[in-house]
Amino acid sequence: MAEPYVIKMPQLSDTMTEGVIVSWEKNIGDKIERGTIVATVETDKAIMDVEVFRDGYLSGPLAAVDSTVPVGEAIAYLVASKEEVQEEGAAAPQATAEDKQPASDSTQAEEESRTEAAAEASPSAGAPEGAIYTIAMQQLSDTMTEGVVVSWEKQPGDKIKRGTVVAQVETDKAIMDVEVFREGYLSGPMAAVDSTVAVGEPMAYLVESPEQVVREEMKVSGAAAAPAQAEASASPTRKTTPAAPVPAGSLNTGGAPAPRPSGRAATPYARKLAGQRGIDLNTVSGSGPRGAIQAQDVMGAQPMASGGGIREVDVPGNGRPMNKLEAAISQAMTDSLTMPTFRVTAHIRLGALIKAAKAQGVSVTVAIAKACALAMAKYPKMNWCYQPKNKLVERSNVDVGMAVAADGGGLVVPVLRNCESRELDELNEDWKDLVERARKRRLKPEEYQGSTFQVSNMGMFGVSHFDAIATPGIAAILAISANAEQGSPFTITGDHRVVNGADVAMYLGELKGFIEQPEAWMGPTGPAIPEGKWDYDVVVIGGGPGGEDCARDLAGHGLKVALVNDSPFPGGECLWRGCIPSKAWRAAADRIRDRHEDAHLGVMGTTKATLDWGKLEATRRQVLETRGDMALKTDKGVKIQYIQGFARFADDHHVIIDKSGNQDDPHTRAGQGDGKKGDKVSFGCAVVATGAPPFVPPIPGAREGLGQGGGVLTSDTVWGLEEQPKKLVVIGGGAIGLEMAQLMQDFGAKVTLLEAKDRILAEVEPEIAKHLTAVLNDDPRLDVHTSVSIDKISGKAGNMQVAYKDSEGKAHKIKADYVIMGTGKRPVLDGLDVDKAGIATDGPAIKADARCRTNVPHIFAIGDVIGGYMLAHTAAQQGRVAAMTILGEDMKYDQDKDCGVIFTRPEAAFVGLSVEQAKAKGIDAVEVKVPMNIDAKAMINNELHGMIKIVADKQSHRIVGVHLLADHADTLIGEAVMMVSGDMTLEQVANAIHPHPTQTELFGELARRLLARLRRSRK
Ligand SMILES: Cc1cc2nc3c(=O)[nH]c(=O)nc-3n(C[C@H](O)[C@H](O)[C@H](O)COP(=O)(O)OP(=O)(O)OC[C@H]3O[C@@H](n4cnc5c(N)ncnc54)[C@H](O)[C@@H]3O)c2cc1C
Repeated sequence: MAEPYVIKMPQLSDTMTEGVIVSWEKNIGDKIERGTIVATVETDKAIMDVEVFRDGYLSGPLAAVDSTVPVGEAIAYLVASKEEVQEEGAAAPQATAEDKQPASDSTQAEEESRTEAAAEASPSAGAPEGAIYTIAMQQLSDTMTEGVVVSWEKQPGDKIKRGTVVAQVETDKAIMDVEVFREGYLSGPMAAVDSTVAVGEPMAYLVESPEQVVREEMKVSGAAAAPAQAEASASPTRKTTPAAPVPAGSLNTGGAPAPRPSGRAATPYARKLAGQRGIDLNTVSGSGPRGAIQAQDVMGAQPMASGGGIREVDVPGNGRPMNKLEAAISQAMTDSLTMPTFRVTAHIRLGALIKAAKAQGVSVTVAIAKACALAMAKYPKMNWCYQPKNKLVERSNVDVGMAVAADGGGLVVPVLRNCESRELDELNEDWKDLVERARKRRLKPEEYQGSTFQVSNMGMFGVSHFDAIATPGIAAILAISANAEQGSPFTITGDHRVVNGADVAMYLGELKGFIEQPEAWMGPTGPAIPEGKWDYDVVVIGGGPGGEDCARDLAGHGLKVALVNDSPFPGGECLWRGCIPSKAWRAAADRIRDRHEDAHLGVMGTTKATLDWGKLEATRRQVLETRGDMALKTDKGVKIQYIQGFARFADDHHVIIDKSGNQDDPHTRAGQGDGKKGDKVSFGCAVVATGAPPFVPPIPGAREGLGQGGGVLTSDTVWGLEEQPKKLVVIGGGAIGLEMAQLMQDFGAKVTLLEAKDRILAEVEPEIAKHLTAVLNDDPRLDVHTSVSIDKISGKAGNMQVAYKDSEGKAHKIKADYVIMGTGKRPVLDGLDVDKAGIATDGPAIKADARCRTNVPHIFAIGDVIGGYMLAHTAAQQGRVAAMTILGEDMKYDQDKDCGVIFTRPEAAFVGLSVEQAKAKGIDAVEVKVPMNIDAKAMINNELHGMIKIVADKQSHRIVGVHLLADHADTLIGEAVMMVSGDMTLEQVANAIHPHPTQTELFGELARRLLARLRRSRK
């Protein structure tokens, strides 16, 4: 590899020690030809384009924009071929030996000596009497032969002190302040503004005393002399020529640089580009230092139509120059004249939003910005913009610019970024800081540039109506006036190239919804129970983990609560047909399984364990009944009105409780009753927590086999088995199917599990699920087949047949005592009459938001009936969320922090996100894992299968997910839950003291390992 060439920070004057990178004009990997301008740099006295006099490819690492680099140090590299290009952040390529290479493309030493020579030049022939010093045109690069006088900062006769800037000059590559390091009085003859002076030639003089000052312009030579200078005699030493004046607004379509804009600087490269593109620099906003126009500003600018340009009208009087802010606003407003705009007004009531914002302690302005962003989800065009020529920029991030009055006058428009995705309180914190600094005009350019939508709120000034001016780069600006009886006028000025009147009208309609009903997205502003005389403040329908936790929280806060459940005892599926009975079976299976490991530790004679089915079932039923009885007593103790019956909605404030289907047996699912009569009770709020029964897909023979004597079982009916089966087919590789299949094999049955998808456990992290499949297939009597299609189920209990095709399409038939359907759960809303209450559904589930609200403001839905994770703790958490929302508290269910355990051996468990899920949410996620077989306790117990993974955000080190495949994962997951729900960082887990010897030590180990890796990769 050829040695790369170092592009260094050039030295522009003998006093310059460092420079700041203003912009990069080329990107890493771009081909650079001799004479290419690659960057713009700024010093305390100059803005300069960095030109490279070599061929090659621009290579990283590049000095960052805004970074300060000492003179002579590398700002980038040139390499000979594209393959050698180093990306950003790479180590610096090995450079050509320093001493062989100039400090910049103009040899630094030469430059210094030339500058010195120019600066120290003794008065020349044309010097006035008493001249002590000649201010000459400095040479700023080895290719510079002349410069143009841009302005004189001092007047003839002004006293000049050491270090005074007297003029500004411009070359083909730099704009530079001319600083004088002598004392004296400025004197003519002075080179005229806009005249070109050769390098080393005088521009003016310093004289010793005021009397010696000459107040005349320097005589110029050549035909291009201005009339005032025409009579001047030519002088061989004063080769000054006035630059051709170009009127503002005229176009230079050739290769010549565009005329300088009035009142502001423009880099030479920017002028060159503007010249090539026919852009009038007076119409371009400058993003460089002190508003200077840089190349990138010209790139984003729009060429004026031929013969166009905005005519500046001559106005009498002595205007003072605008300050930077005034000039920028003036420029933006002039630019807005290129936009074809129109206005649409709608009245929106702000009262509810103001109340909600106050309740949450956030600014109303921020709440409006967030509402604007939320409404854009449906009307994204409002956030687009027109890009010359005939292009539309479709943006997804909503960056709202909002006008703020600066101290001492003027408007600043700080930009609140990513309003679409960030939480309100986070936006509010950002806004407080932005406003404070905006008022003092302390914002950085990136904090007030690049808004994608703007808001101007003059409501607080009491104005009855106004509209705002949209500027290029946005499609629309919203003007908010004072509140009136019919609401505040919200007027949008829109760019007709991007949006039309109907778009804006519909957007305003959507925005109205968000602003007038803020509780839908900001959370409750008070209790949700409507005023009225109700039998119960809240009726909770369904007594599973969701309904019961909800009812207890509400009763605990003093509300009058009825819990309507169709069973004599609460507990729902979880207690009677789900979590608890299945774990009783699992516990027995564990005992049998663990006996096989006894010999590993020298414990002999225990391997012949046999199962007494009747004893197991008696224990199981006794545990359930004890728990059910305890739960009922607790509910009654906390003053919940427990009503056994099947509830149906009569309307949105009444349910009918039908007791005709009531049964005494809590172990089986009750029927719905005949629906003929029931007690009608009224409620302020209702919570639907009716669960989801097992779903049996329409496989031929499956539903037919469910009835009495049929051999198809579900998680509702499997508990009726009178003896342990010997041969089973389990259909479905979800949690229920897998748990059932493995524990039955542990009991001694031969089990075949058939899954239609290409993997088991869709909700579990892929690597964990893959490992578990392999481990399950190692069980002696269990076979797991994925990607199968079931053709038919037939036979009777004790003699069943399943016909299926394997992943290669080969047909198989298996015989079994029973077929257990583990094909998921699905809510059944028949009989509940949700339509009578106007409750919206989403497929088979009830539609609910993160606060568990349905579309009916006082009706809530939780647990399995709303879909998502169908897990007992999920239902319970949602029950608490609904209760808090009804009570007027702010609480949401967050699936990204939810968890689950699949009770196989080893157990699979998860909390939070996998790497893929985290990345899909925009988190820069990394993972670290450790196999269980390195752990001492795992070795002792011969529990070597599996692994633990931690997923963390690379930037913040926040732990966003933990995934386990391990025996005892059901207890290990507890610590992982605290990590994720508590937003803990890798450092916190790494530094926590874990007890030894426990498997929790692995968490600390993993965190430290990932931190070390991140440290290494940063270097
Ligand atoms: C075999 C199996 C094992 C499981 N293991 C686990 C596990 O280990 N961990 C875990 O977290 N989850 C597990 N689950 C899932 C868990 O049981 C459910 O997610 C949980 O019970 C859902 O709670 P819920 O309150 O939404 O509904 P449910 O528990 O189903 O309760 C709803 C109640 O409402 C009643 N009802 C329905 N309609 C009406 C009406 N109109 N009027 C009155 N009453 C009505 C129902 O009969 C029921 O009693 C398991 C499920 C099964 C089947």
